[in-house]
Amino acid sequence: MMDNSRNTGNLARVERVPILGVGIDNVDLAEALDRIGEFVARGEPGLVVTANPEIVMLAQKAPGFKAYLDNALLVTADGIGIVIAARLLGRPLKQRVTGIDLTTALFQQAAVRKYRFYFVGAKPGVAQKAAENIRRDYPGIEIVGIEHGYFTDDTRIIEDIKASKPDILLAALGMGKQEKWIAERVQPAGVPVSIGVGGSFDVFAGEAKRAPKWIQDAGIEWLYRLIKQPSRFRRMLQLPKFLIAVLVSRIFSVR
Ligand code: UDP
Repeated sequence: MMDNSRNTGNLARVERVPILGVGIDNVDLAEALDRIGEFVARGEPGLVVTANPEIVMLAQKAPGFKAYLDNALLVTADGIGIVIAARLLGRPLKQRVTGIDLTTALFQQAAVRKYRFYFVGAKPGVAQKAAENIRRDYPGIEIVGIEHGYFTDDTRIIEDIKASKPDILLAALGMGKQEKWIAERVQPAGVPVSIGVGGSFDVFAGEAKRAPKWIQDAGIEWLYRLIKQPSRFRRMLQLPKFLIAVLVSRIFSVR
């Protein structure tokens, strides 16, 4: 199997593990943070994805979406499903790097690194509340714009993004939608790093709770979310389908 490390200029090469054709970068949290720092310094617009099995499954059905992942600056392994899949393929990943872990760590670095953040997404008021909590917890952080994610026309938002020149834009519009919006609208506006963060603003706003640490460590956060939000059941059926597809891909892969 070939390792097609991403074309990321002078950055040290990172092993890229293909899972059902989607490259997952084998980085731990510290490496992901370093790379994001370099992408910000370089200033060329790009996308960061924290990939879970649903994202990989969506890429199977939607080639346009897969292209966003192929062209991303960085794709980390969110979700225990990706970690298990990599193990099943004999290419274990160093660490799970979730959207919440990654953004929390970026907020911790923000004051020192002088990152300028822009938040777009979630229901009206939620990103605002998330920003309030984050400003309280990480003094000195610069959040230069906050918009909810239920817009129909984004012209004003894009103009505001161009004017406020963030280094890092967090888009919480839900999987698929956020990556498309970033690639088509935010990257052309010149933002160096944009990250799709799914339901993270709901967590930072205190609207949704993350599972206790021991549940996260046991790799059953998906079960916790399912119990809290049974409407996710249909979506979660993707997980067994994903693992079966990975096993099949392993059987048929040429070695
Ligand atoms: N959302 C949004 N605009 C939309 C649809 C969704 O801002 O048009 C927000 C929604 O309020 C929630 C987030 O996107 O805060 C999606 O959260 P979810 O946990 O479903 O993320 P996913 O797992 O799909 O990435």
